Amino acid sequence: MEDVEHIEKEMKLIDANGVRLDGRKYNELRPIRIEAGVLKRADGSAYIEWGGNKVLAAVYGPREAHPRHIQDPARALVQCRYNMAPFSVSDRKRPGPDRRSVEISKVISEAFSSVVFKEQFPRTSVDIFIEVLQADAGTRCAGLTAASVALADAGVPMRDLVAACASGKIGGVVCLDLNKEEDNFGDADCPMAVVHGTGEVVLLQMDGHLTYDEFQKAMELSLGAADKLFELQRDALRRRYSVTLEEILREAPPAAPAPPPEEPREFEQMPEEPGTSPDSDKELPEDDFGPEGL
Ligand code: ADP
Repeated sequence: MEDVEHIEKEMKLIDANGVRLDGRKYNELRPIRIEAGVLKRADGSAYIEWGGNKVLAAVYGPREAHPRHIQDPARALVQCRYNMAPFSVSDRKRPGPDRRSVEISKVISEAFSSVVFKEQFPRTSVDIFIEVLQADAGTRCAGLTAASVALADAGVPMRDLVAACASGKIGGVVCLDLNKEEDNFGDADCPMAVVHGTGEVVLLQMDGHLTYDEFQKAMELSLGAADKLFELQRDALRRRYSVTLEEILREAPPAAPAPPPEEPREFEQMPEEPGTSPDSDKELPEDDFGPEGL
């Protein structure tokens, strides 16, 4: 315990010029990259790299909910499983669910529950899987942001995309998007998820303490970040679904051009009805079975 307090005192998370350990300013996000449709077997998927975080999200459904007794005859269930791989942190994490992952799964499924049009799919479930491959603080926000893209990729009808980002307090300064050191040795961390179109907050948690004014500032920073995240989510979906002319041509090459219409002849003779001419025997067309048929 003494050791931690000593490190906390020694570690200057933000300097006098407002520059953080990784060189960011108080209102800067870590570099983020999102890719949609990265898994073939899932109905929808996305991969996100957010600073040191690497997270995969996969979505199935809406599909018949199993076991049957969990089915809701009026709406779909939105279920989420957040999991951290044993190799995602520096000390091997014990595999399997723990209190933290159960909590994160619950808050993420509740966040999506309020945007998915559940009433359209009674008795079904929409299953979201979030796999953290590498963790560096902010994994629930990264997972939720990727899961939103995966839901859209799966074609699950939703009111809008949801994006999440945390803000917190380090060295007495309210900052956006804390990394691992800032999360461990900072004063507070407050993850927040926002529905793009409406600005509704669908996830809000707090670890540590913020005054009312600090909370207002944190919220302002997270809402601004959500707008940037939405752009990245939309770009990822655009890259997945916009096709170039070359791709269309490769899929279905153009048909050979139709021959030009024949010029009508000036005195066109009407063809004779078969069997009406004196040598009609000769004119009867042969069918597939020869001149006599079968
Ligand atoms: P979030 O990842 O959403 O910020 P936490 O605040 O609970 O969630 O965790 C912060 C960070 O602490 C994680 O991103 C991860 O780097 C680290 N961490 C969480 N759980 C463990 C664990 N069981 N073992 C080692 N490191 C962990």
